[in-house]
Amino acid sequence: MSDPIVFVLDVAPADAAEPAAGWASTVHRVERGTPILEGTDLGATRGDGVFETLGVLSGLPQAISGHFWRLARSAELLELPAPNLEQWLVAMRMAAAALPSDRQGGVKLALSRGIEGSGQPSGWLVATEAEGDFPERTSGIRVATLDRGYSSDLSERAPWLLPGAKTLSYAVNMAALREARRRGAQNAIFVSSDGYVMEAPQSTVLLRRGNTLITPKIDIGILPGTTQMSAFAVAEEWGLETVDRLVPVSELHDSDGVWILSSVALATPITAVDELPIAVDHEFSGRLNAALISRRE
Ligand code: PLP
Repeated sequence: MSDPIVFVLDVAPADAAEPAAGWASTVHRVERGTPILEGTDLGATRGDGVFETLGVLSGLPQAISGHFWRLARSAELLELPAPNLEQWLVAMRMAAAALPSDRQGGVKLALSRGIEGSGQPSGWLVATEAEGDFPERTSGIRVATLDRGYSSDLSERAPWLLPGAKTLSYAVNMAALREARRRGAQNAIFVSSDGYVMEAPQSTVLLRRGNTLITPKIDIGILPGTTQMSAFAVAEEWGLETVDRLVPVSELHDSDGVWILSSVALATPITAVDELPIAVDHEFSGRLNAALISRRE
């Protein structure tokens, strides 16, 4: 895998007009090892900021509108200044184009509250080539269910916990992945304290039961998944029903297939939940991944 490629942005307010030299003049590629954040940046000291990770294929970012919708939504939930989406679009395309055109990869963009007291947000992007060819899209993975410690009415009861915002505070999500590995699984599925499927630490959960695709509804306090939205759109074209609702954890064992979905890894089938094998639908995995990989902007 080659080194990540880093870009820094002179973050413009949402209503700023494009500079005469173009938005590209506000995006700077930096050499590996060049410092890009000050030690007092609230993104570094408090995880106070938001991010997005987009899949990249042939140097082009995928599903931009869904990601930018979610970026703006996360920024609003954190009461950050609204991002200038025109500027981010130019930056995103520059970062994606820096990746080798024959490889899959991803671009992570981050927008933090900036240096403490400055009132000026910081922005940066990291373009990374994917490691390997995602064999788990066909082999599948085992997951462990982990208690998230929140009940399914979290969004209503405690919106200050920022359910559904993609914040830079992912230490809990990373700890959950380590716990899943300790339990002999490769990934985790968070479960609410009242027994409903939430999401994986970096992916959305999808189930198939007959001709219906099901995903947990976002009011339970989870992130709206852009890959899940694309999966529902193609499934509807294929004549399948799609529904978002509460999903009791027992339903994972009582379905015709379960996947976790995310922008770079796409659809990964689950082969076992808490060491109990579940049904795997290889044919649907193949079809879904082929559709997801062919997505464009
Ligand atoms: N849920 C969480 C907590 C995530 O971090 C992610 C992606 O990183 C997702 C779901 C899937 O989102 P997307 O399909 O937009 O990548």
